[in-house]
Amino acid sequence: MTANLYALFASHFPADKTACCIETHDGQYYSWGDVERASARIANLFASLDLPRGSRIAVQVEKSPEALILYLATLRAGFVYLPLNTAYRAAEIEYFIGDAEPAVFVCSPKNFGWVAQIAFKAGTRHLFTLDEITSGNQGRNSGSLLARAMHFPDTFATVDRQADDLAVILYTSGTTGRSKGAMLSHGNIASNAKVLQQYWHWQADDVLLHALPLFHIHGLLVAANGALLNGSKMIFLPRFDAAEVCRQLPRSSIFMGVPTYYVRLLADSGFDRRTCRNIRLFVSGSAPLLADTFTEFVARTGHTILERYGMSETAMLTSNPYAQERRGGTVGLPLPGVSLRLATTNENGHDTVSGPNEIGDIQVKGPNVFQGYWRMPEKTAEEFTADGYFKTGDVGKFDSAGYLAIVGRSKDLIISGGYNVYPKEIESVLDEIDGVVESAVIGIPHADFGEAVTAVIVKRPEAKLTTDGVIALMKTAIANFKVPKQVFFADELPRNTMGKVQKNLLRERYASQPD
Ligand code: ATP
Ligand code: MG
Repeated sequence: MTANLYALFASHFPADKTACCIETHDGQYYSWGDVERASARIANLFASLDLPRGSRIAVQVEKSPEALILYLATLRAGFVYLPLNTAYRAAEIEYFIGDAEPAVFVCSPKNFGWVAQIAFKAGTRHLFTLDEITSGNQGRNSGSLLARAMHFPDTFATVDRQADDLAVILYTSGTTGRSKGAMLSHGNIASNAKVLQQYWHWQADDVLLHALPLFHIHGLLVAANGALLNGSKMIFLPRFDAAEVCRQLPRSSIFMGVPTYYVRLLADSGFDRRTCRNIRLFVSGSAPLLADTFTEFVARTGHTILERYGMSETAMLTSNPYAQERRGGTVGLPLPGVSLRLATTNENGHDTVSGPNEIGDIQVKGPNVFQGYWRMPEKTAEEFTADGYFKTGDVGKFDSAGYLAIVGRSKDLIISGGYNVYPKEIESVLDEIDGVVESAVIGIPHADFGEAVTAVIVKRPEAKLTTDGVIALMKTAIANFKVPKQVFFADELPRNTMGKVQKNLLRERYASQPD
């Protein structure tokens, strides 16, 4: 039997092919049969290009049903899907094309000019635009993928693939440095999708409200794959918009988002229990959910957000339970099949943490763990232990019930005067201060201490907080070596599109500031 991920999805498509697979917020509609036929035409087009096995099909397009169909067509044809963040501009696209050497690049019509220049220089063999059928542009452009695909048959025999054949290359978000291409196989993605289907109790009549981007693991491999594997309808929003989400939520049963989405929903006065009356599950991930958001959400809606944790290299690793207690401030329990341990470095090399609340580096093993970084064999080797665990780069601790809490990334760990300081711990205390909206704690090079603990705080407009006042309060709450030596106030924290705080930018910005 083939391990092609598309074949797995197709085996779960509803028997009634006229049922809705994707509906857009403005009422466009694709049935399961439409998705099968459209993906077949594009797969036939790709097959006709005579591409070498393992070719990458790189895609930088606005979110649309056609973009999802393009993902499915790539899987069907047995090639490697490589989605790119729509925010990337020339310098970034040049890097990704140079690094991934895709045989095919699909771009938005509006970017065709500058993408073509880069693609020609790099020797990309095929460049297409993805015009949205829904916007009525179809066929106007001679490079239009969809117009070309119309000349091909609407059936296609999905190509056989083994579980360890590559399906997707996902570039990491670049939060801690240059993005790396995480190579995920058909088996990696399928195993994770199946586990989540069980763990989150996907049901036959579920409707997913899909507001996330499609170029990132969260929107593509967690949200969309979940619905595809379950044969469930998706309502597609082109982007997150609180008012539009509130309009669509009553027709939906599952919603997934990054923490900022939940913050914005709570800021919308129209968002209440009635809006959420048909929702079965709210999922959060990609960045830490603030304790305040978690508790305010329960108070406003009666729903407890389920927080989970994962990354491009491994897909999902842990999740709060569906039926048992969901603990705020934690990312839950290791998912079935995932072996997760916390490691510390001692004099003899490595050791594994045993007790609750002991902090260690998160290392994982499982069928979901990737095949390595694209064209970075040395980096890949460095990130695996001798016994085959992947070093996630995140630091965490278990509570007494075995729930994992992320205390930060190892790259963000601060060493001040020889002591380890975990930013998350300090941020949690700062966030408790009256008038603090949120905070980020970073290490800034310091002549005496090596690094000085530095806090960047977003305060409520009316709050009368001062640097000295915050430091004095912190001195009463935590050990002196953890107390920020400097406190800066900012209007907002710099975040990337997935809502991740960019601490590297904060370190650059505040490194040269006098205290
Ligand atoms: P790069 O690896 O390029 O620096 P990145 O790690 O941000 O970027 P992703 O793979 O998109 O790229 O994100 C995975 C990371 O997101 C995890 O390693 C973790 O640090 C963070 N993360 C994901 N979910 C959560 C969560 N629920 N709570 C805290 N952090 C999370
Ligand atoms: Mg990472």
